[in-house]
Amino acid sequence: MKIIGRYAPTPSGRLHLGNIYAALLCWLSVRSRQGELLLRIEDLDTLRCTVENADLLKEDLLWLGLDWDREMPAQRTRSAYYEECLQRLSERGEVFPCWCTRGDLKNAANAPHASDGHPIYPGTCRALSAEEREIRLRKKPGIMRLAVPDEVIGFEDGNYGHYEENLQSECGAFILRRADGVFAYQLAVVADDIAGGVTEVVRGRDLLDSTPRQLYLYRLLGAEPPTYFHVPLLTAPDGRRLSKRDEDLDMGLLKLRYRPEELVGALAYAAGQLEKYEPISAGELVGIFDKKKVGRDDIAITLPDGK
Ligand code: GLU
Repeated sequence: MKIIGRYAPTPSGRLHLGNIYAALLCWLSVRSRQGELLLRIEDLDTLRCTVENADLLKEDLLWLGLDWDREMPAQRTRSAYYEECLQRLSERGEVFPCWCTRGDLKNAANAPHASDGHPIYPGTCRALSAEEREIRLRKKPGIMRLAVPDEVIGFEDGNYGHYEENLQSECGAFILRRADGVFAYQLAVVADDIAGGVTEVVRGRDLLDSTPRQLYLYRLLGAEPPTYFHVPLLTAPDGRRLSKRDEDLDMGLLKLRYRPEELVGALAYAAGQLEKYEPISAGELVGIFDKKKVGRDDIAITLPDGK
């Protein structure tokens, strides 16, 4: 079977070192097995994401030697398709509108919390009668949520091994579309990966706990899920987690201080692909890439002395 991978960055800022670490591993995984790589700009949040950032990140990826075979349409252009997927899910009667605010959910008596800290949806609006829903919908659009079964959904991650979650007790009914009409990441990512025929997903381990929800959506949409390989996160040398706000490790500054081979070498060394740090191009890593060496622990990255 042909491997189809994808890199799906969010252009809410400049790519940082952690983003390009995940991009490099995603690229190597596909290129080392003659697969096809798709690029998809995940700009659902049109307030935070810009076309300028999307153009810059493409330029940055190419500068690093990380190319792609096909670009999928950006998510901001895909609402009609997501709506169609939402309709298909709705036909099963498990999608319902919800008007609870964040405050309502926080205050719900003894609300249990999921591992990422979000309160587990207590089912308030799920219990509304059809009449009550109609009345409320006429006044205000709701958040569209998907009710989930009391079922453990597990999978074998290529790096972290078995991972499972009971969707009802550990996650709760989750959001498919926000009240302002913006589709949620969980729905868009599955809808797009299905449309692209994606067979493998390589991405940061911060998305490991999204995977059971996504597998459930694959099931409801009647599609074959991809394989998953989650990679550790990079932290700054002082241990703090990298984010798009940490401009010190973003591509704008990194490009001023380093050559692509130096950055790729440092990332490949951090990913267990080199015995010691040495400058190397992404292309040269293709022949030696070994997924088994990636490791599971987050990595405090040290960079070589730059310019
Ligand atoms: N757009 C997400 C991000 O930039 C990645 C989503 C995914 O790989 O599933 O973190």
